[in-house]
Amino acid sequence: MFIKDILKTSRTISCEFFPPREVEGINNILEVASRLKPYNLSFVSVTYGAGGSTQAFSEEITLRLKRELNFEVMAHLTCVSQTQPEIDEVLKRLVSAGIENIIALRGDPPAGDSNFVPVEGGFAHASDLIKHIDQKFSFGIAAACYPEGHTESIDLHSDIQYAKLKVDNGADFLVTQLFYDNQDFYDFVERAEKAGITVPIIPGILPILSAPQIRRFTSMCGASIPSHLDTQLDKHHDDDKTVRQIGIEHAINQVQDLWANGVQGIHFYVLNRSYSVSKILDSLQIADHTNLSKTTT
Ligand SMILES: Cc1cc2nc3c(=O)[nH]c(=O)nc-3n(C[C@H](O)[C@H](O)[C@H](O)COP(=O)(O)OP(=O)(O)OC[C@H]3O[C@@H](n4cnc5c(N)ncnc54)[C@H](O)[C@@H]3O)c2cc1C
Repeated sequence: MFIKDILKTSRTISCEFFPPREVEGINNILEVASRLKPYNLSFVSVTYGAGGSTQAFSEEITLRLKRELNFEVMAHLTCVSQTQPEIDEVLKRLVSAGIENIIALRGDPPAGDSNFVPVEGGFAHASDLIKHIDQKFSFGIAAACYPEGHTESIDLHSDIQYAKLKVDNGADFLVTQLFYDNQDFYDFVERAEKAGITVPIIPGILPILSAPQIRRFTSMCGASIPSHLDTQLDKHHDDDKTVRQIGIEHAINQVQDLWANGVQGIHFYVLNRSYSVSKILDSLQIADHTNLSKTTT
């Protein structure tokens, strides 16, 4: 089913995984996903690696989440290291496997490079990939957006214009980069609406698991940590168990506030761990999300 059609009738709860470095890690991700199965997630997704085996693992996990665990899956696809015909081969395999939804991204420059350089015969921007998929295939398409601005963008205005271009080129909804201050999200939504973006904007929530890790992630993606949260992370810097609990509580507060303010879904960056997201979903009393109640099977 197209996620855009799910969004017409209910709010969504979704979870994102990332591919392991070694093939042995694939079963672990399927195991984590199966632990989240009782929450009747609206869809799950798997990030697309920078090249080689991680791209193959990403595709394999995507297909197995659908085939073996019967999840609605949104495949991630980037412009990194593949020409247009190579991307088409991936898309055809996804079609054959019955995958109906794609989040189309540019991808980050390879480690060590500061600029993204498209391969010859490839795509330079997510909006180009989206246009191509929309014209040649019948996928439901999502795109990324950045409440605090993308790290390479000149300013928030141009950033929103490029987000709008992705929608104009065929994106049915947007999923945000992680953020820890909901005001950043609300400000972004206001800018998006002013720019004429009318599709659903799904906030991406990353429950913090460790202080050094989240400092690394936020400095890479340009997200900020509010000072009260920052102080708590400093205080418990080496204590992952306490930091994980702080992360759960912060995420619960974020999600309750977002839900009360009418968001159309929540996308969890689960970092291949089920504990925090399970605790968050257990604690939320989101009455009008029909998919959220636990099943007995
Ligand atoms: C929900 C989500 C999922 C993600 N999944 C993955 C994943 O699976 N794999 C992965 O490698 N990365 C993933 N990323 C990270 C993403 O690939 C990076 O943030 C990347 O740097 C930008 O990707 P994009 O699709 O937003 O690119 P774009 O929309 O192409 O934007 C990239 C930069 O170029 C600018 N820009 C856009 N269009 C134009 C234009 N026409 N002319 C000039 N400038 C332009 C934008 O302002 C921005 O600064 C994800 C991010 C999010 C939020």
